[in-house]
Order: sequence, then C-alpha cells, then structure tokens
Amino acid sequence: MLAHFNDLKEKKVLVTGALRGIGREIAKALAKNNCHVIINYRSREEEAVALCKELERLGASATSALCFDISDATQTSDALQTYVKENGPIEGVVNNAGISRDQLLLRLKADDVNVVIDTNLKGAIYVTQALSRGFLKGKNVSIVNISSVVGLMGNAGQVAYSASKAGLIGLTKSVAKELASRKVRCNAICPGFITTEMTAELDEKTQKQYADSIALGEFGTGEDIANSVLFLLSETSKYITGEVIKVDGGIYI
Ligand code: NDP
Repeated sequence: MLAHFNDLKEKKVLVTGALRGIGREIAKALAKNNCHVIINYRSREEEAVALCKELERLGASATSALCFDISDATQTSDALQTYVKENGPIEGVVNNAGISRDQLLLRLKADDVNVVIDTNLKGAIYVTQALSRGFLKGKNVSIVNISSVVGLMGNAGQVAYSASKAGLIGLTKSVAKELASRKVRCNAICPGFITTEMTAELDEKTQKQYADSIALGEFGTGEDIANSVLFLLSETSKYITGEVIKVDGGIYI
C-alpha cells in the first residue's frame, strides 16, 4: 500500500539513479503523490525519456531528466546549478544512486574501493553541496539519503560498501546540523535486503541465508522504501532531522 501526502503536490524532488531498482520505485511513488519529479541518470537517455512519460501518466505534476554521473563533482555541480538557475530551487533530494563491489578484504582491489566510495559517499556530498545554496530559498526542504543496514551492522565481504554507507550516516547528521537553522532537514534510511537487480545478483543460497536472517522472513520491496521516503519528504515529518530509520524487516534488532 502506497502512502499519500497532499503537501507533496508539485514539490520539486530529485532522485539520483532513478532508472531502475529502488530509485525507480521512489520516482513512481513521487509521481503518484503528484510531485514534480526530477530524475537523474548517467546513460541511456531513451530510457530516461520513457520513464518521464510513465511518471507523467502516473500523476507527476511535471518531470525533468538530468544526465550526470554523481561521482564526478564537476558534472554534478554544472548540471544541478544550471537546473536551479533556470527552474528555481529543488525542494527535496533523494540520494539513492549507489553501487556495490562485494569482495573479501584480502581480494578487494583499490579500484573497487575507489568507485564505491566515489559513488556512494562522495556522490551524495557533491549532489547535496551543489544544491545547498538553492535550498536556502526553498520551502520545507528535505534531503533523504539511502544508506544501508550494513552501514550500521557491518557485513563480511562488504568492507568498502558498508564503510561508504556508514559514512553516509555521518554526512546525514552533519548536514542536518549545518542546515537546521534554515529549516532544511536531512535524514537517512537504512534498507535491509530489498528485491532489486542489485540483490538479484546474489546466488540463490545466499538469498535464502539472508531471508532466514530477517525477523519478518522475507526481502522488502521498493515500495517499502518509497513509503518512508515520502514520509520524510512531507511536512508530516517536519520535526524529524538527523534521524536514521531502518526499513529492514527486523534484520538488525
Ligand atoms: P540498482 O543497482 O538496482 O540501481 C542503482 C542505480 O544507481 C542505477 O540506476 C544506477 O545507474 C545508478 N547509479 C550508479 N552509479 C551512478 C552514478 N555514478 N551516477 C548516477 N547514477 C548512478 O540498486 P538498488 O536499487 O538496489 O539500490 C539503490 C540504493 O539503495 C543504493 O544506494 C543501494 O546501495 C541502496 N540499498 C539497496 C539495498 C537492496 O537490497 N537493494 C539494500 C540497502 C541499500 P545505471 O542504471 O546507469 O547503472
């Protein structure tokens, strides 16, 4: 069941990495809440155009598609600052784009460490920083960072990934403190195991092992994450900032 918040109507919300997985589900949920959905993608323009059309059919008040690689500071700031200059402030951000390069510590390559930290952690900093001046002119601005439950509890084989996601929590709390005087809020969501292409890469045995370790006994859905994002973007959560919310079916209690 998808949540609905009336105050999200026409709110300009950016979702990074929106072409697939959780980001796509979040974009669709925003459209159904009649937001102005701004999708970010790094390649496959045709898919981005098709997604915008789908979002408009679902109820988005407007859509925009911005092509940039979040791990590239210059590309990110150029794309976002140009957009804000031409269209006014972005009022909601979902730092969703992320990658994993899982490997045991002994086999972990420096290139993999770099790409994971550059995308998951530095990318979120670049996006937030590029928009921060515009935030000061926006109303009920809310930033939602998609971290991970492994950023809280750690996981064998995910040293770089979990470190990047733990870093995102530090980023969330610092941004919350830095921008609170301007009523800009920043929170993090820690998904557990959610069915997407990222988790589909896990072999069947590992998927079963993970499912057995979840108190509620099953993987979550993109909609489970989208519902918490909608809540944190809406004024319903206006007194919540610097918070870290687990949406993990009880994998980490
Ligand atoms: P997917 O791999 O399905 O999708 C990730 C999206 O991020 C893709 O659209 C991808 O683009 C985009 N992306 C990756 N790197 C960049 C970049 N440098 N610039 C712009 N976009 C980029 O992942 P999920 O949907 O499963 O995960 C979404 C978020 O949720 C991630 O941050 C992930 O770490 C987090 N998460 C996921 C969990 C899960 O169980 N699925 C659990 C906990 C957290 P492209 O299509 O071009 O590759």
